[in-house]
Amino acid sequence: MHKGLIVQKFGGSSVANVERIQNAAKRVVSYKKKGYDTVVVVSALGDTTDELIELAAKITNEPSEREMDMLLSTGEQISVALLAMAIHKLGCEAISFTGAQVGIITDTSHTRARILRINTNKIKEELGKGKIVIVAGFQGVTLDQDITTLGRGGSDLTAVALAKELAADECEIYTDVEGIYTTDPRIEPRARKIKEITYDEMLEMASLGAQVMQARSIEVAKKFNVPIHVRSSFSDNSGTMIIKEAKKMEDVLVNGITLNKTEAKITICTVPDRPGIAAKIFTDLASAGISVDMIVQNVGHLRQTDISFTINKGESAKTIKLTRALAKAIGAGDVLLDDDIARVSIVGVGMKSHPGVAAKMFGALAKNKINIEMISTSDISISCIIQKKFAETAVKALHEKFGLGK
Ligand code: ASP
Ligand code: MG
Repeated sequence: MHKGLIVQKFGGSSVANVERIQNAAKRVVSYKKKGYDTVVVVSALGDTTDELIELAAKITNEPSEREMDMLLSTGEQISVALLAMAIHKLGCEAISFTGAQVGIITDTSHTRARILRINTNKIKEELGKGKIVIVAGFQGVTLDQDITTLGRGGSDLTAVALAKELAADECEIYTDVEGIYTTDPRIEPRARKIKEITYDEMLEMASLGAQVMQARSIEVAKKFNVPIHVRSSFSDNSGTMIIKEAKKMEDVLVNGITLNKTEAKITICTVPDRPGIAAKIFTDLASAGISVDMIVQNVGHLRQTDISFTINKGESAKTIKLTRALAKAIGAGDVLLDDDIARVSIVGVGMKSHPGVAAKMFGALAKNKINIEMISTSDISISCIIQKKFAETAVKALHEKFGLGK
């Protein structure tokens, strides 16, 4: 009986060793036996990609991006071949391909390439022969035959893009957690698995620090309405469905709490309060390739104001250097760096139509004597910058306040 087409993606931890590869193979074969046409996307084994990056760093700190892609794409080539062998061992037919072999055509932006199109002929041909098709995640090829990669976590993108192109009936993302949680269970043991979450919420959670799926892959899923099932490769439990509209979303104010400790806060003190200054500061930062996140400008008094913004911690040194020079040039005062900050955020599409969510959030933080240093909001999220030492307390307090616990 033909059940339709399924795309199954296995993340690095789901193929980290021989036993896990065999485990993944069993799962794939069980779906094939249920009657599915099965296309499998695999990430590199365990921490292979990180190890390859470290290896390159031992040779040069300025590797050519083309050669980086050449190097990193080997990780996934190993996994597809091993998975194919494991499936053969189980008595099923399977064939593995690199991204280039199946025709995943990308632009030329090495290390973060965009998929232009996918020629699905080869995949369809092999499926037609009854084979399980295994595709290396995270990679593609340019029209000039240069190998590219799709940015960290890019196997998710390969899976979603293939699911779209092949009009798959299901797209499963296998990982080492049971799905998307209301917050990080390592911080709040009462965190609950979310049954259904919208693309928008998932995107927001990803950009705010929840690291389950690559954000770009969710953008593509949203654009083409590809429903995704995130689930564990270590159990048979169902996980979280990422879909367009969740059934109960109107009743739920907040669906998740995220925590991000990767940012630092820069404050430029006593900035002259006149037109064009902010434009100058942020144009210079942008030209230096520094991406700025939250920005707060205080009320000007005596024609001066303090401006604070957050950046990626990794860019602190570069930013400080640039901002100090800038401050001098515009006649501003000191530049301060605080990298002991954390961002806690609440996410939920339900907050669009309910007043008072922000008040509730601030109240919960106040009750725990946590000072809020910066605030930013979007349609479906509210974030506060607080001192890092209060991060876990804040997450727990908000989880409790919005009734997310088990
Ligand atoms: N192996 C690549 C990475 O670690 C791609 C992926 O895992 O999705 O980023
Ligand atoms: Mg990975």
